Amino acid sequence: MATIKTLSEQLSNQIAAGEVIERPSSVVKELVENAIDAGSTQIDILIEEAGLKKIQVSDNGDGIHPDEVMLAFERHATSKIYTTQDLFRIHSLGFRGEALPSIASVSKLTLETATTDLPGKHVYIEGGTLVEERIHGARKGTTVTVESLFYNTPARLKYIRTVQTELASISDIVNRLALSHPQIAFRLINEGNQMLRTSGNGDLKQAIAGVYGTDAARKMLTLASEDLDFKVSGFVSKPELTRASRNYMTFVLNGRYIRNYNLQKAIVEGFGSRLMIGRFPIAVIIIETDPLLLDVNVHPSKKEIRISKESELSALIIRAIQAALKEVVSIPSGLDNL
Ligand code: ADP
Ligand code: MG
Repeated sequence: MATIKTLSEQLSNQIAAGEVIERPSSVVKELVENAIDAGSTQIDILIEEAGLKKIQVSDNGDGIHPDEVMLAFERHATSKIYTTQDLFRIHSLGFRGEALPSIASVSKLTLETATTDLPGKHVYIEGGTLVEERIHGARKGTTVTVESLFYNTPARLKYIRTVQTELASISDIVNRLALSHPQIAFRLINEGNQMLRTSGNGDLKQAIAGVYGTDAARKMLTLASEDLDFKVSGFVSKPELTRASRNYMTFVLNGRYIRNYNLQKAIVEGFGSRLMIGRFPIAVIIIETDPLLLDVNVHPSKKEIRISKESELSALIIRAIQAALKEVVSIPSGLDNL
């Protein structure tokens, strides 16, 4: 019989990375979410070779206490929840304490961080092993640089698709995070070219303009509806502006970008016959509710979350869209025959 042993920390982090860090865009998502949780107002993302060569995320958030930097790389170490009660009232994007150790175990990672009043810290970790740690003079905030992603996990590297596909996935996730946080100025730079810039002035319509262009932002209808459990706001495009993909509909639930097929269906149902088959509006739907109605702890990536009273929320979205569409004067049928 083989002997039973506990996995080494290095190995268990690599196994966790298999779940949380599927591809370069997962790294971008986790690092940017950490920057958001740190209260940043400016987040810059630099990409090289679709993230396989380099992903750098710089923020001007709170920074990490110099004595806690190495703890942040331990699995299940987090500053975001401490008790079971906290788990049911999550206000942050992160809480699992898995991203940094996972990413560090499958890349060459440099982290530089500083708080307002303490000396900053610089660490360099290669495949989960600390190589360099020193004091670092820097302004408040954190910069994480991830190089040679998956260099020590060849199977994962093989699975990565083309540069274009990976870049599209990175751009998509940054767009959604920028739409979810209009109060943060985002910049996404790929190989030196700016792919996205938002102003961070707090205005959702301006964030939409940054992501989808000013023309699209001009063709938006305002949503506003609430019932006892949910408050829905945001924007949806007029029926004249549609896309051939569902990917332009974004849901932000208590500040977290989520995917939800039923809520997408609710948007389409709200439009009724005003949408052609296979066409979808651009939408950013902001939903606020009591965190007690949500279970965020369903999937490691937290993109899918369980909502109690989801059908009630769908009905509210349908009503919000129908009300917004009433503002649009419909062209009387037969007018085009005149
Ligand atoms: P989680 O986000 O689930 O807590 P992570 O592994 O992503 O776990 O991060 C571990 C901890 O490191 C966080 O709880 C936070 O205290 C700290 N941290 C990570 N990134 C940043 C950042 N950009 N700014 C400030 N603190 C950070
Ligand atoms: Mg995190």
